[in-house]
Amino acid sequence: MDILGASLLKAQAKGVDAPLDGPPLPGENLHPSLPMEPQTACRCSACGAEAPRVFFSVPQIPVLVCALWPDAESARACPRGDLRLSYCETCGAIENQAFDAERVVYTDQYENSLHFSEFFQGYVREFAGELVERFKPAGRTVVEIGSGDGQFLELLCRLGECRGVGFDPSYDPSSPDELDGGRVRFVREYFDPSHADLTAHLVVCRQVLEHLPDPGRMLRGVRAALAPDAAVVFEVPNARYTLESPSLWDVIYEHVTYWSAGSLARLFAACGYDVLATRATFADQFLAVEARPASGERGAVLAPVDDIADLTRSVEAFERSCSATIDGWQRELEARHAAGQKVALWGTGARGVNFLNIADPKGRIETVVDINPRKHGMYAPGTGQRIGPPEDLLREPPDLVVVMNPNYLQEIQASLTEMGLNPETRCA
Ligand SMILES: [Zn+2]
Repeated sequence: MDILGASLLKAQAKGVDAPLDGPPLPGENLHPSLPMEPQTACRCSACGAEAPRVFFSVPQIPVLVCALWPDAESARACPRGDLRLSYCETCGAIENQAFDAERVVYTDQYENSLHFSEFFQGYVREFAGELVERFKPAGRTVVEIGSGDGQFLELLCRLGECRGVGFDPSYDPSSPDELDGGRVRFVREYFDPSHADLTAHLVVCRQVLEHLPDPGRMLRGVRAALAPDAAVVFEVPNARYTLESPSLWDVIYEHVTYWSAGSLARLFAACGYDVLATRATFADQFLAVEARPASGERGAVLAPVDDIADLTRSVEAFERSCSATIDGWQRELEARHAAGQKVALWGTGARGVNFLNIADPKGRIETVVDINPRKHGMYAPGTGQRIGPPEDLLREPPDLVVVMNPNYLQEIQASLTEMGLNPETRCA
């Protein structure tokens, strides 16, 4: 998801139910020295259950982890918000009860393209190939909601020999309205029932749902725009991976909700879809759900996933391990700093920025690099380090390079060797 979130969030912000008044909930504040905003009672936005349990809180983190800043001062003064993740033991939904859509204002400085990684490119090709094989769109129309720069839709249409229409209200005005002689075109609007005449064979939506304060509202809107025999495929981050890896750095303000195979399937069924399958992709980091519009108001999960017991255990384990992980890194960074060692961070996506803000609030990590040239010379939100190319590591060879995504570890180690560097590397 990219700038799309901007418009979708703005549209949804007004539809968000106001928090109910009530006694404060026991949200654990991991940094008691920093005040949390007042807490209000909450309810599960997926199933309506009351008072889901808050299991992870961090006060005042940058609300846009991928928005880069032109100087250190503005980076440190970036907009912040509280994170207060709740878990619904009824349906498995996980959401940030402190999320405030009004705080999240996406700009053209938002940069989270992963296209520069070969591993990610390989995944995207594989995913598009699988969609073609499963849904056989040849000669039909495929719609992508939140098509961003259009690269994925173009690939899908080329592989699937089909037409494509990308919907994204924030599609770059200077980008072409159509590609490949009109086979792929872009519409700067939402996909809603006014576009039902497209009779899309397949609707794809990747990495958007988790940014919306009311995902059910969006799913019901999409359903109303579908032909009866259409299929939808939504891709979201996999909550089980986030909880179990454990990858607390994946927990970011912009993600309002987190889904497991079971909770995602239940959400789709509740919003009027028959769920065909849910599967983990991108080395288990993402989930894809495949569904069709149900004949009635409520759909069925045709391949039921009952993962509530497992999910509850994962949430409890995450809750226990988070404090230890954060304390461990803070202590290690202090110790290395005291010993005169240099620590660098490679990768300034969401995880990297989150890591800097939560694990290194004192700014012991001075060198921060990324392979994405669009980020070079910009500053990390919250902590304010300047982001440079990997060659910056040559200036003061680091003793340790913290790598933010295990999927890129080999790529990064190879690059370090090529530069003649041999630091310890470790995934955070
Ligand atoms: Zn629920």
